[in-house]
Amino acid sequence: MGAANNVMVFIETRGGRIADVSLELVCAARRLAGQLDCGVEAVALGYELEDELQRLGHYGCRQVYYVADRRLAHFTSVPYAKTVVEVIRKHQPRIVLFGATTMGRDVAPRVASALKCGLTADCTDLQIGSHELKNVVYENVLLQIRPAFGGNIIATIVSPESRPSMATVREGVMRLDEADPDGRVEVVSEACPVGDDDFLTEIIEIVREEKQVNLKAAQIIVSAGMGASDPEALELVRQLARLLGAEVGCSRPVVDSGVLPKDHQVGQTGITVRPNLYIACGISGQIQHRAGMSEAKRIIAINKDPQAPIFDIAHYGIIGDVRDVLAKMIKAYRTKA
Ligand SMILES: Cc1cc2nc3c(=O)[nH]c(=O)nc-3n(C[C@H](O)[C@H](O)[C@H](O)COP(=O)(O)OP(=O)(O)OC[C@H]3O[C@@H](n4cnc5c(N)ncnc54)[C@H](O)[C@@H]3O)c2cc1C
Repeated sequence: MGAANNVMVFIETRGGRIADVSLELVCAARRLAGQLDCGVEAVALGYELEDELQRLGHYGCRQVYYVADRRLAHFTSVPYAKTVVEVIRKHQPRIVLFGATTMGRDVAPRVASALKCGLTADCTDLQIGSHELKNVVYENVLLQIRPAFGGNIIATIVSPESRPSMATVREGVMRLDEADPDGRVEVVSEACPVGDDDFLTEIIEIVREEKQVNLKAAQIIVSAGMGASDPEALELVRQLARLLGAEVGCSRPVVDSGVLPKDHQVGQTGITVRPNLYIACGISGQIQHRAGMSEAKRIIAINKDPQAPIFDIAHYGIIGDVRDVLAKMIKAYRTKA
């Protein structure tokens, strides 16, 4: 297997730690590489990351091209994009994956523009398949799948005539496989191709706002939709969440109407979650919400409308007023606990 033609992942680090989304993408890359019979490699930029980069080996990455430079310790757009472009030019991967994060959304389009290749943002699925264009059949192309036109269609996007194919994927969308502590990665040092003139901005201080809620790590989520957004119903949602040791999630209109902060939003433009249990309270179950929670292991839906689409994916459906049902659930749980 040559070094070229592999699947590459752009590794983000924050505070010296590899971002979860990058590990998830390494796992996704491994699944794609398995179908293409090629390897998984990565590109990482920063400073004093040698030890941390070993974790990539636990998820199936075999080589990481590491550009170590004190000036790259904090993210800045132009130097990062230029460096990634040079690494891609040198190692010629067939696919490059980026997190659809603030950093990935900044770097990936600059890289795609410099390399004149296709880029699909916010993919919800990545597959390998064939594609026919102008009577030419392209085999083993990256099928970049994502909702389009406000989520009304699921589009499959291909860029068979340019290389590499590039995609961004949001955190939580790809499954994180179990780590294999024996997996090894080779850290290959690369020279930093940027000069001081490329550093147009200087990072003086980084201030991090602590998140109030960690939906991604939650095993149970009790989620409020517009049918449970009034103060009385929301208090019941919170009470049930407290009793179950759960986090409180919500649909987008609940955020848009100022009832809960954005950190709580589940869905296409919110957070993708995979809890053991998701209790959807007064949520209709539109495709944009389902995009963020349909992979929950168990879904309980409470809705007064028996036709609500959430019942199509719920394992248990309860038809009724959310206040009555939540009050009964809380009472039953207190009695049994
Ligand atoms: C580009 C785009 C991205 C989007 N991203 C997201 C996203 O990330 N997350 C997201 O959630 N949405 C997203 N949306 C919005 C999405 O299309 C829906 O509008 C939204 O999910 C609906 O939220 P809801 O179910 O809370 O509200 P509604 O659709 O208004 O549904 C409320 C439900 O509550 C039920 N109900 C009302 N009162 C009661 C009661 N007393 N007891 C029981 N049931 C009751 C109703 O029967 C109804 O089913 C997006 C839309 C677009 C166009």
